[in-house]
Amino acid sequence: MKKVDHIGIAVKDMKVALPYYIETLGLKLLDIEEVESQKVKVAFIDAGNCKLELLEPIGEEGPISKFLEKRGEGIHHIAFGVTDIRKRLKELEEKGVQLLQKEPKPGAGGAEVAFIHPKSSLGVLYELCDKGERG
Ligand code: ZN
Repeated sequence: MKKVDHIGIAVKDMKVALPYYIETLGLKLLDIEEVESQKVKVAFIDAGNCKLELLEPIGEEGPISKFLEKRGEGIHHIAFGVTDIRKRLKELEEKGVQLLQKEPKPGAGGAEVAFIHPKSSLGVLYELCDKGERG
């Protein structure tokens, strides 16, 4: 694991969350996009040494919608920046770590992402995030 790339935060409504982060806390909005594979709208915010990834569900299906229903708003996951994600996933599997997906899938910002099952990491949902050359 190279570094923490971002912290994923589930929000119900971007229109409420963004003014808090941008105007109240004074952080900078980097980008907003929709990630079809995860059924979410994503806003990246610059928090200096790390980014915050606000996640608003699109529709009622998808992991963020379910998370909000069960746990409410708050921290959803912590993402490590990695290189060579397929190799990392294989190494983790060989160490007996349970993964949510064995093959990475497309995430925000053109990255390839995969998640470690919280059961395998003492209750924390970790994402591996590979941005290739753009690191
Ligand atoms: Zn993430």
